[in-house]
Amino acid sequence: MRVAVVGAGMVGVSCAWALQRRGQEVVLLDRGEPGAKTSHGNAGVLSPTSLLPLNHPGLWSQLPDLLRGRSPGFRLRSEGLRRRLPALLGFLGQARPSVLEPTAQALHQLIGLSRPLHTQWMKEAGIAHRWRDAGWLFLYRSPAAWQAAAWAREWYRRFELSCQPLDAQALRELEPDLQRGFTHALWVQGAASVDEPGAVVRDLAAHLVGQGLQFVREEVRHLQRLGQGWQVQTSAGQRLEVDQVILALGPDSRDFLQAQWGWRLPMLHERGYHLHYAWQGRGLQRPIYDTAGAYVLSPMTPGMRLSTGVELAEATAPPREEMMQAAEAAARQVLPLGDRLQAPMWLGSRPTLPDSRPILDAAPGQPGLWLALGHQHIGFSTGPGSGEVMAALVLGQAPPINPRPFAALRWGRHWLR
Ligand SMILES: Cc1cc2nc3c(=O)[nH]c(=O)nc-3n(C[C@H](O)[C@H](O)[C@H](O)COP(=O)(O)OP(=O)(O)OC[C@H]3O[C@@H](n4cnc5c(N)ncnc54)[C@H](O)[C@@H]3O)c2cc1C
Repeated sequence: MRVAVVGAGMVGVSCAWALQRRGQEVVLLDRGEPGAKTSHGNAGVLSPTSLLPLNHPGLWSQLPDLLRGRSPGFRLRSEGLRRRLPALLGFLGQARPSVLEPTAQALHQLIGLSRPLHTQWMKEAGIAHRWRDAGWLFLYRSPAAWQAAAWAREWYRRFELSCQPLDAQALRELEPDLQRGFTHALWVQGAASVDEPGAVVRDLAAHLVGQGLQFVREEVRHLQRLGQGWQVQTSAGQRLEVDQVILALGPDSRDFLQAQWGWRLPMLHERGYHLHYAWQGRGLQRPIYDTAGAYVLSPMTPGMRLSTGVELAEATAPPREEMMQAAEAAARQVLPLGDRLQAPMWLGSRPTLPDSRPILDAAPGQPGLWLALGHQHIGFSTGPGSGEVMAALVLGQAPPINPRPFAALRWGRHWLR
């Protein structure tokens, strides 16, 4: 069977990998190089704790501060808000206990499935050196902040995630550069990280090309049903005929589906920025999340990558320095951060659906067309598991985990028109 995978981010490359491993002929298309968009700019963390989404029920008590811009990890931009309002209300509406439980269960499965695949695939591609098994750290600046996160630790305990609480001294012993500012930490020992996520995706794709994958660097403009299969039309006028198509367009999915079929996918763009910095300390062994500053700092090949929290805006809205400056200022209070190593700052969008679960399913009413999108904050880590699920579905095989929580019509059909 010949399958076109459109989108060569972590999710699309993973779909291509899983299908090619099952003996299928795969054409991977992207308007840019593999791993150059959202999958390039993320924090490179793979954590079992990501089973708790941003829209957990506790979001309601945080809402007044979030809307007033008093939370360092969140900004709501007003431009284009009317268009985004249905998705935003849908996202808030899903912040309830009856949704959190199945979401946490589903994400736990997907995260658990993905992790061993990541290490196995990276080994096969000869890039195991990019992987770090040292976990990551949640940092707290006061006993009250530590106490306020007790509910999350209770979830981690329930799911038997490997985590170790640290006091200030134990934290300094583990990471000598974390000398000041933090009273408590949670060492998520079950987490891992990579030294450059975009390079991981690029190298995985290059390995597939070495094994027969066809990579087409062109924008896909239009999809047309042709007999039993599909015709993929590109910006350069190519017309590729394939049996099946997987769309893995990350944050561009919403606009593509709307232009193609008029669908209104309830996708939010949780934008985030990053910059790389020099470091005036001994170095960190693992990424850190400073809960007070709401930034993540990841040691990476190009430098210390400082990533911000969430700016809710249209994916195409112009960037603003505000969040990056706030994250940098918060980090400088407690860390030996050196000069900025790059300009301008990187900006990308976490593609988020109302219940914070991706869609991994057939496209409704379009035989032979599949959707793998909406991976919010965890698409780098959950790409491989998503690829395995998609390959099984496309080939009519039993998926390795229950795919029902990832069904396209789980909130009904209203978004199709
Ligand atoms: C600041 C930040 C920090 C993050 N940190 C983490 C983290 O630590 N861990 C984690 O797991 N996740 C993290 N994420 C989330 C993660 O980066 C995303 O969930 C993931 O990269 C999504 O992958 P994707 O393949 O779906 O999308 P993308 O990587 O965006 O890939 C989609 C591809 O589709 C292509 N495309 C779109 N339209 C077309 C078209 N018409 N024709 C051809 N090609 C097209 C694009 O060029 C792009 O390459 C973070 C995200 C951000 C923004």
